[in-house]
Amino acid sequence: MNIILFGPPGAGKGTQAKYLVKTLNAFQVSTGDILRNEMNKNSEIGKKIINDMHDGKFVSDEIVNRLIKDIVFDPNKKNKLIFDGYPRSLSQAKNLDLLLNKSNQKIDLIFFLNVNKETIIKRIEKRKNEENRSDDQLETILRRYDTYIKTTKPVLDFYSKNSNFKEIDGALEISQITSKIHGFLRV
Ligand code: AMP
Repeated sequence: MNIILFGPPGAGKGTQAKYLVKTLNAFQVSTGDILRNEMNKNSEIGKKIINDMHDGKFVSDEIVNRLIKDIVFDPNKKNKLIFDGYPRSLSQAKNLDLLLNKSNQKIDLIFFLNVNKETIIKRIEKRKNEENRSDDQLETILRRYDTYIKTTKPVLDFYSKNSNFKEIDGALEISQITSKIHGFLRV
C-alpha cells in the first residue's frame, strides 16, 4: 500500500507515518529528513539547500524530485511507501503521479491532517524544545505555515477529488488520529 500524509508542518504527519511504517511494514519517505540528512552530510545537494532550509522556504522541486525518484524505483520499497512531507507543490504531485505510473504503482490512500495555525504554533514550539531543530524558530514557523497555505492549496485541490482522499481533524489527540487512520487501512 502507498500512502500520502498531507498537512501543514506540525500537523503530526511524522508521528502517523511511523505508525503506518510499523503496521504495514513499510518505509517512511520524509523529504524533510532526507534533506536534513543531505545538509548534515554537507553533500553537494546539502550545500545548495542550506539557505532555503534555514529560512523555512521550499527547496527547489528539481532537487526534491531527484531525491524521490530513486526511492520510488527501489524494488524493495515498491508498494510500501509512506510519503510524509511530499508532494508539497502541484509540480511535485504531478511528478509523483508520473513516477508511480512508470513503476506500475499507485497511491492507495491520501490522509489530509487538517489543523489551524494556532494549534500548529503550539505544537512546533513544543517540538523545538524537545528536538532542538534549528529551523523551528517562531518566525520560521509562521513563514513555513504561510508557504504551506500558498503552495499546497493547489495540491489539495488536485487530490481532494479522489475517492481515496480522507480528511482527518489534525487537532485531535494523536491516538484518536491513529485510530481514524487505522479504520481506513482494512488490515
Ligand atoms: P519538514 O521536516 O517536512 O517540516 O521539512 C523541513 C524543511 O525541508 C521545509 O521547511 C522545507 O524547507 C524542506 N522541505 C521538506 N520537504 C520538502 C518538499 N517536498 N519540497 C520542498 N521543500 C521541502
